[in-house]
Amino acid sequence: MQKKRAVVLQQEWGGKPCDHPAFAKEYDLGARTGSFICTQCGRTFTFREKAEIVAVRPAEDTAE
Ligand SMILES: [Zn+2]
Repeated sequence: MQKKRAVVLQQEWGGKPCDHPAFAKEYDLGARTGSFICTQCGRTFTFREKAEIVAVRPAEDTAE
């Protein structure tokens, strides 16, 4: 997901609570940043933050 798209998502989501059900790789100007974006609320996570969220889930959806 492009960084620009994540900013739009964040505005649309409006800061509501989110359990971050799915993540997409973050791209900026076509290059991977190494971070991940919640596809629901648009929040950006580092690889480590994303891994910690996914780790406590019983069943992980590993879709790209
Ligand atoms: Zn989220």
